[in-house]
Amino acid sequence: MKSEKPNHIDSSAAGKLIARRKRKLDADELISKICEGNTTALSRAITLVESTASTHQQIAQQVLEGCLPHANQSVRIGITGVPGVGKSTFIEALGNHVIKNGKKLAVLAIDPSSSVSHGSILGDKTRMEQLSKNANAFIRPSAAGDSLGGVARKTREAIMLCEAAGYDVIFIETVGVGQSETAVHAMTDFFLLLKLAGAGDELQGIKRGIMEMADCIVINKADGENVNAAKHAKNAFAKALHLYPRKASDWQPKTKLCSAINREGITEIWELIESYFEQVKTSGFFEENRENQNIYWLKSSIENALKDRFFNNPKIQEALSKQLNAINAGETTPFLAAQLLLDLNNTQK
Ligand code: GDP
Repeated sequence: MKSEKPNHIDSSAAGKLIARRKRKLDADELISKICEGNTTALSRAITLVESTASTHQQIAQQVLEGCLPHANQSVRIGITGVPGVGKSTFIEALGNHVIKNGKKLAVLAIDPSSSVSHGSILGDKTRMEQLSKNANAFIRPSAAGDSLGGVARKTREAIMLCEAAGYDVIFIETVGVGQSETAVHAMTDFFLLLKLAGAGDELQGIKRGIMEMADCIVINKADGENVNAAKHAKNAFAKALHLYPRKASDWQPKTKLCSAINREGITEIWELIESYFEQVKTSGFFEENRENQNIYWLKSSIENALKDRFFNNPKIQEALSKQLNAINAGETTPFLAAQLLLDLNNTQK
């Protein structure tokens, strides 16, 4: 069979120009559809953001740029808790309530387990059945990635796209694994921690720092025989929260009871969240916090990029293994070796 020759060569300048124009057209179309609230376009753009292919990344960046002026108009709420605490049931309950109040809701997730085990704690089962059928809800499972930094960046970009598509409430869900809570806290305006009542040991096993991040602790499954234990847990958490120094937001974190499965406590929790936003928008903390978050993400993007560039440099990789051997042989110290490698990196430029 005769092989057909292409009638143009794609790598030529003309080919590149055509490809670039096509990408621009693709991006422009996606931007206008996203801004009309088209969920197919939104999903497609998030897939491009998540893709590692460089052409996809180029379109994704153009789409993000185009969507940016329409982003920011939302409230971003982080929701965390261990597996089984009732996150999906709670999000389903609160989400439906929020939508009944006339809002459009997007639910995104950060699930670092998906990058480690390639399974996922959050994504496997059919979750939030009712919400997923609701036209005013957009649910997107966690992006995969080989680092939390990468997954976090993709989620932040997905937030912007959802905002441009008109979603005015964004839930970011995560499980209490690794540093994921810190990442979610750094990209949201309000941080909600879901807990279960234990037999008087409520405060044990809670990771350092998580309590400090929480704007609200919700004791879920406060139903049936569990009601009294839940009330005890609520009091214990309330006392503990009072011992923390006042937050920069000047908001005193609250504790609430909830039975997500019976839809009890949901209205009060949403009212509490609304009162938080009223307070921080009036005080100016809302804007200030978002500005600080931008600084944080700018710096952490630079850090990640520098680290990647350093460790992926073949010269560094070679020198690194030599230095490791030298350290183990007692010929140098980790500090001296690090200096040498950094100097080597500088002379490479
Ligand atoms: P997730 O792993 O944190 O997303 O938790 P799920 O929402 O999947 O809930 C785990 C289990 O707890 C399920 O069997 C739910 O039906 C149950 N559950 C969730 N919320 C409540 C609640 O308020 N009360 C009771 N009794 N069970 C609940």
